[in-house]
Amino acid sequence: MASKTNNSRRHFLGRALTIVGGAALGSLITACDGGGQPTPPPAPKPAPKPEAKPEPAPAPTPQPAATTNVDPNDQLAKQLGYVENIAEADTSAIAAFKEGSNCANCSLYQGKEGEEAGPCTIFQGKNVKAAGWCQSWAPKA
Ligand code: SF4
Repeated sequence: MASKTNNSRRHFLGRALTIVGGAALGSLITACDGGGQPTPPPAPKPAPKPEAKPEPAPAPTPQPAATTNVDPNDQLAKQLGYVENIAEADTSAIAAFKEGSNCANCSLYQGKEGEEAGPCTIFQGKNVKAAGWCQSWAPKA
């Protein structure tokens, strides 16, 4: 009796594995060849967003014409070592001094060439002497 039961179970399991195996094989074949259906093209990737370009530095704002000159004794002028005539200063004591530098050839000077004085972006509302100099001097580009 036990032998007949075992045979029935084996038969049942064998059939079940055949069915399951066949289905699994069928699924595998379907997965590999697309099941006979044309494979849809992959969705297009969204175009990469262009990187934001850094804003260019704003151009210096032209200074309104000033009627007074910077007083070398003003607090900011003293802090920056401003002098009205660098040619008369003891430049050997100024470590930051570059030979030949003065307000007229400084990138922050906005005076017209040949004029005695003109605006400087540092000293708002006042003129600096073209022959002057301070420690913020930077060469014109
Ligand atoms: Fe002169 Fe330039 Fe100094 Fe202004 S920043 S005071 S223009 S040297």
